[in-house]
Amino acid sequence: MTPEPAPWEWEFDWHLTNRCNFDCAYCHPQIKHVLNRKHLNEPDPALVVQRFDETGRVCLVHMSGGEPFLFPGFVDLCAGLTRQHYISINTNLATPDVAEFVRQVDPDRTVKIVAALHVGERERLGLGLVDFVRDIQLLQGCGFDVDALYVLYPPLLDRLVADLDQLYELGVEQVRAKVFKGVLNGRRYPEAYTEEEREFILTHSGQYPFNKPYLEGPPAFRGSPCTAGVSSFKVTVTGDVRRCATVPAKYGNLYDGTFTAADTPEPCPAERVLVLSQCLAYSLVAEESSS
Ligand code: SF4
Repeated sequence: MTPEPAPWEWEFDWHLTNRCNFDCAYCHPQIKHVLNRKHLNEPDPALVVQRFDETGRVCLVHMSGGEPFLFPGFVDLCAGLTRQHYISINTNLATPDVAEFVRQVDPDRTVKIVAALHVGERERLGLGLVDFVRDIQLLQGCGFDVDALYVLYPPLLDRLVADLDQLYELGVEQVRAKVFKGVLNGRRYPEAYTEEEREFILTHSGQYPFNKPYLEGPPAFRGSPCTAGVSSFKVTVTGDVRRCATVPAKYGNLYDGTFTAADTPEPCPAERVLVLSQCLAYSLVAEESSS
């Protein structure tokens, strides 16, 4: 059977805010450095909706930060975007706006909500798992597709099984676990996981498909044509549009209306890719080898 084509034409990976109510040890250092400090003058939600409408394309807008729910007017933003477009959200699910979100936003145009469980921060802030699960179930009960996501930060590996058990007991069925990418105690991950840890990780990844290629070393995409820049883009917190999370080639600015897409796929220039899921989705070579 041929899968149905996606109902959107363009995809945007939008880092929409540097606000965050958490302070995770494993946050990407470049993001952690600016969180709650720089570029906190986010655009008006209505302006952003207008800019996506002006592309003349149906878009899928992936939203991450920072914490997306802290974007001023986030629920209005999502309600506005889902009138013509599709959204997905990566959230820590630790803000009081979830009830308002389910009242105003169309679940049929919300492709996925990834509820990232930052267990250390929840404990530090006295939030626990019960509220986290309550919000997941509220969203799911209203028709939203939600996956819980656990970051396999090396210091958390010893408690992973107990945390997963608790989530299952509380009624969360889908938990994905993803490898940590970054430096800890002078060692670069995911390369630094031991053989035993790798096996453990692969056993507990749930439906997260990218741990194996990250652990084995991602395939090379350099030189292969890729539709990033033509039909998929990265948008920074200032509205600058880039080719993807890895390649900083510029395509104007979404907020000021100067964004323009490229016409034809160009070869990938990256030596080392940062977000494998983007390469696997947009590289024309990856597409050929999977068809
Ligand atoms: S293959 Fe990956 S890193 Fe290269 S341009 Fe495409 S999305 Fe970016």
